[in-house]
Amino acid sequence: VLTATNIRKSFGDREVLAGISLEAREGEVISILGGSGSGKSTFLRCLNLLEVPDEGQIAIGDVQAPLARNRHGRLEVSDGRAAARLRTQTAMVFQGFNLWPHLTVLQNVMEAPLRVHRRDRDEVLATARTLLERVGMAGFHAAYPKRLSGGQQQRVAIARALATNPKLVLFDEPTSALDPERVREVLALMRSLAEEGRTMIVVTHEMAFARDVSSRVVHLMNGRVESSGPPAQMFGPDASPAFRAFLSPAA
Ligand code: ATP
Ligand code: MG
Repeated sequence: VLTATNIRKSFGDREVLAGISLEAREGEVISILGGSGSGKSTFLRCLNLLEVPDEGQIAIGDVQAPLARNRHGRLEVSDGRAAARLRTQTAMVFQGFNLWPHLTVLQNVMEAPLRVHRRDRDEVLATARTLLERVGMAGFHAAYPKRLSGGQQQRVAIARALATNPKLVLFDEPTSALDPERVREVLALMRSLAEEGRTMIVVTHEMAFARDVSSRVVHLMNGRVESSGPPAQMFGPDASPAFRAFLSPAA
């Protein structure tokens, strides 16, 4: 579903991504762990071209990212429509929910499939209803985001992400802004999506999720993949020293 090869990105003199390659097959759940500033968010943003990488190639589903060098030798998006097509293969869930405040719950979920994908209204409505039911928010169609708890907002944001039926869902610390009891409900939802076979890349600090739900764990350090592997290996005795130090800094 995803092939990202040798992604590099610098901001000024600071090299944030130093050549990251990652593949995700259909149904895989990849947890990305790493310290603050290790480049996790920047990497996710490169995957859907919210950020244009300085080097590298990306393909999602059957769409190749339209990146080409301009006359200064820098990579740029060379075809806006192809970039839009690549973006429609993915959806992103953020730490801060980012629901549209002026739209109701139902409108938030219907917005992208209606306006971006131009799907049939009845179909979009039926899908939105099913998804809101799925995330436990069926009773809140007419509510505005600010009336909801953080956990409820995040569950709506997840329904919204699924509404376009993306090939790949990207999560950037989806539970970091939540109270502990809300964290659990969102993690339970994400776990059930994983069990359904959704392909997901999840930046998280939730070690139990990384260990129990993901098919692969990737440790980013200084813009590189320091180590990666199945959770049994990464959380086992043979994990890399740097990853073990990340897991228990005091030790
Ligand atoms: P955190 O765990 O704190 O979310 P992260 O691993 O997601 O960290 P990034 O947000 O990818 O880290 O940022 C990596 C580095 O890139 C940081 O030093 C950050 O300040 C820098 N950075 C990110 N975006 C920009 C930008 N648009 N302009 C300049 N520097 C940036
Ligand atoms: Mg981040």
